[in-house]
Amino acid sequence: MALFVQKYGGTSVGSIERIQSVAQRIAQSVADGNQVVAVVSAMSGETNRLTAIGTEVSRQPIAREMDVLLASGEQVTTALLSMALGDHGIQARSYLGNQVKISTDSSHRRARIEHIDASNLLGEIERGIVPVVAGFQGVNSAGDITTLGRGGSDTTAVALAVALKADECQIFTDVHGVYTADPRLVENARLLETITFEEMLELASLGSKVLSQRSVEFAGKYATPIRVLSSFSSAFPGTLITTEEANMEKPIVSGIAYSRDEAKLTLLGVPDIPGVAAKILAPVGAENIEVDMIVQNVGADDTTDFTFTVKRDDYEHALLVLEKIRGQLGAREVQGDSKIVKVSVVGVGMRSHAGVASIMFSALAEESINIQMISTSEIKISIVIAEKYLELAVRAVHDAFDLSKEAVVEEKI
Ligand code: ADP
Ligand code: ASP
Ligand code: MG
Repeated sequence: MALFVQKYGGTSVGSIERIQSVAQRIAQSVADGNQVVAVVSAMSGETNRLTAIGTEVSRQPIAREMDVLLASGEQVTTALLSMALGDHGIQARSYLGNQVKISTDSSHRRARIEHIDASNLLGEIERGIVPVVAGFQGVNSAGDITTLGRGGSDTTAVALAVALKADECQIFTDVHGVYTADPRLVENARLLETITFEEMLELASLGSKVLSQRSVEFAGKYATPIRVLSSFSSAFPGTLITTEEANMEKPIVSGIAYSRDEAKLTLLGVPDIPGVAAKILAPVGAENIEVDMIVQNVGADDTTDFTFTVKRDDYEHALLVLEKIRGQLGAREVQGDSKIVKVSVVGVGMRSHAGVASIMFSALAEESINIQMISTSEIKISIVIAEKYLELAVRAVHDAFDLSKEAVVEEKI
């Protein structure tokens, strides 16, 4: 008998019919002899709606209360799915984060799971009950509700799978699995049978929202297999995320990720002296603004230009910080652009294969797309471009690496 944690995302529980269809799928899984713990997201659009009304009612919503508000979306779907399962003769019970219990730190709206006490759920499973757990939420040491950040239901599911020692964590979503690029942007993107934790972690951290970054971190750390599959069709086995095996084929490029959640700031004419980068980035960090890419040009006349990117939500805040320090740094001007995006190619085969960057850059050049910033690591290359070129760039790079065809394999080892 296998134990599966099955997570159903927003679109998968987006209507009464969808919830009934999910109940049917879980009932089938139970009839096949499996034990199932379900994890649900809020109905699609609900978390956005709640965020909007929270920020409308108050200009600076209190984080603790925002979490109470946001967590309500998942509370609704746990109850609805449990009731729908009842109609299939399945005994199901809803569980909120504090009932499980899923203990987190106190960083409201981006809390981290610290511990899961799985004994309640294990008891339920033993009694033949299907627990339906609210994703995205937990409880801090003061007993307050916390939420795990957008896409956090994936994290709940994987953390539960680890705590319950489940055989597989199945992430049901609105596409058939993980593709070589977002299938909504690239029509001929190819569905992957498998991908390594390492590559999936890069893709998730670089913007592919099919899985949350923390969910992949958890699964990789504890080697818990994740399978991403569609809740709309049973025709495909989905994508298995696994550890790299010695005999696994290593594609040079496995996938392309993009992120619109980017903005760029530049300090022009900064004196080119030691310590200046720290003087710029320390006050930015002190405001809890996360900096991603950094470029410092070699300047003429003893000055330089210093550019970095931040999340788009932090753009205005970062501009204010730079305006404040501009005078004391002796910089000439602050410039910013919040209409930029990041496009990245990822592949473990890049480690031992040169030339990936030049293929990517040539493809962009052919489309006359100007690259504003570049950053590389062992298994990825990221570039920043103007937002208006996003679709064109992702498709051009996807074509340049022939990703719609079977993977280009460097070697079999
Ligand atoms: P859910 O509500 O089920 O959590 P999400 O919207 O968070 O679903 O994630 C699924 C979406 O991720 C897909 O609809 C797709 O547009 C997007 N996506 C981005 N990159 C990829 C990729 N490489 N493979 C599959 N889907 C991707
Ligand atoms: N409902 C939350 C969100 O939309 C969590 C999730 O769906 O994973 O971000
Ligand atoms: Mg999601």
